[in-house]
Amino acid sequence: MDSYQTLVIGAGPGGYVAAIRAAQLGQTVACVDRWIGAEGKSTLGGTCLNVGCIPSKALLDSSEQVHRAQHQFKAHGITVGEVTVDVPTMVARKDKIVKQLTGGIAGLFKKNKITRIEGSAELLGDGKVAITAHDGSQQTVSAENIIIATGSEPINIPVAKTDGDRIVDNSGALEFSEVPKRLGVIGAGVIGLELGSVWRRLGSEVTVLEALPDFLAAADDQIAKEAAKAIKSQGIDIRLGARVTGTKVSKKGVTVTYETAEGSEKAEFDRLIVAVGRRPNTGGLGAENAGLKLDERGFIEVNDQFLTSLPGVYAIGDVVAGPMLAHRASEDGVMVAELIAGEAGIHRDYRCVPWVIYTWPEIAWVGKTEQALRAEGVEYRAGSFPFAASGRARAMEEGQGFVKVLTEASSDRILGVHMIGPYVSEMISEAVVAMEFDASAEDLARTIHAHPTLSEALHEAALAVDKRALHI
Ligand code: FAD
Ligand code: NAD
Repeated sequence: MDSYQTLVIGAGPGGYVAAIRAAQLGQTVACVDRWIGAEGKSTLGGTCLNVGCIPSKALLDSSEQVHRAQHQFKAHGITVGEVTVDVPTMVARKDKIVKQLTGGIAGLFKKNKITRIEGSAELLGDGKVAITAHDGSQQTVSAENIIIATGSEPINIPVAKTDGDRIVDNSGALEFSEVPKRLGVIGAGVIGLELGSVWRRLGSEVTVLEALPDFLAAADDQIAKEAAKAIKSQGIDIRLGARVTGTKVSKKGVTVTYETAEGSEKAEFDRLIVAVGRRPNTGGLGAENAGLKLDERGFIEVNDQFLTSLPGVYAIGDVVAGPMLAHRASEDGVMVAELIAGEAGIHRDYRCVPWVIYTWPEIAWVGKTEQALRAEGVEYRAGSFPFAASGRARAMEEGQGFVKVLTEASSDRILGVHMIGPYVSEMISEAVVAMEFDASAEDLARTIHAHPTLSEALHEAALAVDKRALHI
C-alpha cells in the first residue's frame, strides 16, 4: 500500500493549491481527482478551471469585445463593418485556455513532486482511502493527513430538470454551438447574471426569472440598485418574485411556467439555463460509513482549524460552509497545509474575502454592506465617488458606477468597500489589503494614487468619508 504524509482529495483550486503548499513545506503528497474533461481524459483544476471561473471569464471577455465593437468604437471615431460572431471559434478559444491552464497544474504537480492519482476516492477510516480508477481498477492508499476538497455541484430543481440540450446548467451554458434566440435563465445570482450577460451581448433575448423579490440581496443595496439599472438597460429582462413551477420541452424549445404576485405566467425559450445555486459535493466519498459529520445542508463540519469529526482529516473550499469562491478555497488550502506542517496561529476568518461579479460594469465588494451595519446598529460614516468624475474612466468612455467606503464612526476603521464600475475586479484588492491591515479611511486618503487611474475613485471615496473629496 502506498503511503503519504498528506493525501488531498480533489484537485480544484482548494485541493491543488493545498497539495502544492504541502509539498513546498517538505511533505510527501498525493492528490486524487476524478474529473473527466471535454476530451474524455482525466484533468485537473476542478470546477473553477473546467466549467467555472476561467471558461466563463473567457466567454465574458469575448462577448465584451463584441459589445465594444458594436456600441463603443463609434464614440472613439472608429468605424468597423458589420460585426459577426463565430460561436464555435469563440468556444474553441475558451477550450484552448482551459487546456493550457489545466495542463499548467499538471506541470506544477511534476515540479513539486506531487503524485497525481486519477480516480474516485472513498474514505475507509484510520487514514486509509480506497481509490477506484476510471478503468475500474482499485487501490488503497494511506496517509497521516487527509484534506477533503471535493467542491460543489449545481443544484438541480425537479421543476426544471437539466437534459444537457434545451435545459442546461453552467457547464452546458458554456458550450452552446450557436446563439440562442430566446434564452431563459432561472436564478438572478452570480452565474445567471454572468452567463446571461455573455449570451445577451452575443445577441440572445435574455429573460432572468428570480424567485426572490430583491435583486442581488447579498450586495450593498445601493450597488444592487445601480447594477439592476445597468443590466436592465442592456436589454436583460429581470423578473423578480418569479417562482418557476414547471417546464415542458418540445421540438421547438422550452415552455416555462412561473408564479408571480399577479398569478401564473408562461414564457417560451430556445434554451434555459438553471443557475439556482450549488451544493456541497460528498457523493461517493463514503462520509457516512467513515463517520464523517455533515451539517443539515450537507456541508462537511469543521472546527476553526479545518479539522473534521475524524482525526487527521481536514476539509476545505466549497464542500465546507462559507463563500463558494475559488480564492477562498485556495486560501483554505494554504492555511490547512501550513497547519499540518506545524505552523501555528492560523484560523478560518472570512471577514476579508472579496466578492466580484463579472458583469459590465463589474461589481466588487469586501466587508459589511450599509444595510448590514444599519441592522447591527453600528454607527458608521460613508463616502462615495462616481466614476463619472474620474478622468481615467471618462477617457475610457466608462463613466458608469461609483465606489463607496464605509467606516466605523468612532475610529474611522474601514468596515466595507463597495464598487460598481470598470475593472473594479482589479481595484477591490487595495480595499482588501487595507481591511486586512485594519486601515482607516484616512490611511487610504493619505496614500498617493497614480494619476490618471481608476483607483483614484477609491482614494476620493476615502476622502469623501471625511467630506473632503477633491473632484466632486
Ligand atoms: P472544485 O473546484 O469543485 O473541485 C473539486 C474537485 O474534487 C473536482 O475536480 C472533483 O472532480 C473532485 N472530486 C469530488 N469528489 C471526489 C472524489 N470522491 N474523489 C476524487 N475526486 C473528487 N469563483 C470565483 O472565485 N470566481 C469566479 O469568477 C467564479 N466563477 C464561477 C463560474 C461558474 C460558472 C461556476 C460554476 C463557479 C464559479 N466560481 C467562481 C466558483 C468556483 O468555481 C468554486 O468556488 C471553486 O471551484 C471551489 O473550489 P474547490 O477546490 O472547493 O472545488
Ligand atoms: P447564487 O446563489 O449566486 O444565485 C442563485 C439565485 O437563484 C438566487 O438569487 C436564488 O434566489 C435564485 N433561486 C433559487 N431557486 C430558485 C428558483 N426555484 N426559481 C428562481 N430563482 C431561484 O448561485 P449561482 O448563481 O448558481 O452560483 C453558485 C455559486 O457559484 C455562487 O454562490 C458563487 O459562490 C459561485 N460563483 C461565483 C462567481 C464569481 O465569483 N464571480 C461566478 C459564478 C459562480
